[in-house]
Amino acid sequence: MAKPKAPKRALDSYTVKPINKTIRAGDCVLMRPSEPSKPSYVARIERIEADSRGTNVKVQVRWYYRPEESIGGRRQFHGSKEVFLSDHYDVQSADTIEGKCTVHSFKSYTKLDAVGNDDFFCRFEYNSATGAFNPDRVAVYCKCEMPYNPDDLMVQCEGCSDWFHPACIEMTAEEAKRLDHFFCESCSSEGQKKLQNSHNASRHTDIKVDTKRRRR
Ligand SMILES: [Zn+2]
Ligand SMILES: [Zn+2]
Repeated sequence: MAKPKAPKRALDSYTVKPINKTIRAGDCVLMRPSEPSKPSYVARIERIEADSRGTNVKVQVRWYYRPEESIGGRRQFHGSKEVFLSDHYDVQSADTIEGKCTVHSFKSYTKLDAVGNDDFFCRFEYNSATGAFNPDRVAVYCKCEMPYNPDDLMVQCEGCSDWFHPACIEMTAEEAKRLDHFFCESCSSEGQKKLQNSHNASRHTDIKVDTKRRRR
């Protein structure tokens, strides 16, 4: 059909009828995936526009990638609700919006009392062409030297302040939860002097390489 292109106009907000939710630029939303078996896409709305009659509403979105959708795939330290803010923009029909969601900072996510279905967190930006992350280095913890996965229970050593997975210190999760005080192996056996030298807070790993690389 050779219809002239209708001029676009920007909308401040738009109410998605089926879910009865009003969206605005800056909101995070769940969008219907191309295959029904896949989890909903997570996106941030950059702009809402309609044709001159106010119909055919489209949203300009910036995608959040799930770890599975990244070039490197899901890693052990990725949380189940982790998403990466990508550099991938798209235009989608507003009708594909299934609901609103919240993408928290890593810090505020770890402080949530309860994680709902529509709670996510983001600690990395992701370059969809190269697979690179920003930041490309991240603090690591425990004897296994892994970045923190907020889904995993960890216990903190009162000596060096490093965090440990119960399994890595030969403890069950139940035992770890019952602990009142915890000193890691090196802190309990090697005393105060060594403690000062073994401060681990500045350990980092390059997340593009094997995080299990030991620094000895
Ligand atoms: Zn560990
Ligand atoms: Zn310690």
